Amino acid sequence: MSVPSTLLVLTHGGAGASAAHADGCQRAAVVGLSTLLRKGSALDAATAAAVVLEDDDRFNAGTGSNLRLDGRTIQMDAAVATSEGGYGAVGAIERVKNPILVARTVLGSPHALIVGQGATALARRIGHADYDPTTPRARAKLDRALSILRQAGVAPDQEPAAARWQGGVRERLWNFDDGCDTIGAVARAQGGTFAAACSTGGTLLMLRGRVGDSPIYGAGLYAGPAGAVCATGIGEEIIRHLLSRSVYEWIAGGTPVGEACRRGVDLFPGTVDVGLIAVAESGGGAAANRPMPVGRAEASPPAAQGLD
Ligand code: ASP
Repeated sequence: MSVPSTLLVLTHGGAGASAAHADGCQRAAVVGLSTLLRKGSALDAATAAAVVLEDDDRFNAGTGSNLRLDGRTIQMDAAVATSEGGYGAVGAIERVKNPILVARTVLGSPHALIVGQGATALARRIGHADYDPTTPRARAKLDRALSILRQAGVAPDQEPAAARWQGGVRERLWNFDDGCDTIGAVARAQGGTFAAACSTGGTLLMLRGRVGDSPIYGAGLYAGPAGAVCATGIGEEIIRHLLSRSVYEWIAGGTPVGEACRRGVDLFPGTVDVGLIAVAESGGGAAANRPMPVGRAEASPPAAQGLD
């Protein structure tokens, strides 16, 4: 008789985020697990966990997302992926409370990735009200970065000046000491199906229209029959490594989950913030080159507990 997989949810609150935010990650993992215990799918669980984190304004996703360089605009990216090959994502979506729920709707649509005004229009059409995710903390964070830029002689309010970030200024400011605070969740449901969800307000210094790794299949997230993976960190670097897909391939090839995550992190120089969470049949794992708050919740399936 085969032993049923335990139900498992892992969440993260961003590479470089404060360890003091771990309670939010744990709360999200517990909500994801309770979804599984009510017979929700891995996708239901990862999505439910991501909603909790989007609604927690300490994280850079949904409410609390970073502002763009213009000091006014918030554009968010979100995606979900399942071990059955489902994938749906939104990029640069504006003025919605829960981008992850819009990404989930895209998964059920003929499309895979919808961006910009089209994504916002879709959100309205399916009932997401106009919502301003700006928080005083996000504004203060951008103001601090802009003042450092000005001291460095860069005029950040002129977008063409962005080219001048290349060099020391960019390295000093890219997410500086505030970390990434972006969010992600991976889940394993009864029967060994998997899902990943990630959502972000992006990095700190961003032009309008910039899209990071989070909604890119194989970069910010990936799921397949062997497990689910979710990345956080500097999107431009993560995309180049197709990071989540690479880690998934190692897991599928037999590398233990935690070791595969560590190997993924080790692809990057120490100057690049990066973190990973993953679940597989053998368990869950996480690794990061910065402090990264993580939540984890696990239980036997109701049938194994005699609750079915
Ligand atoms: N990966 C996200 C991005 O580049 C940011 C993050 O993980 O904090 O948009």
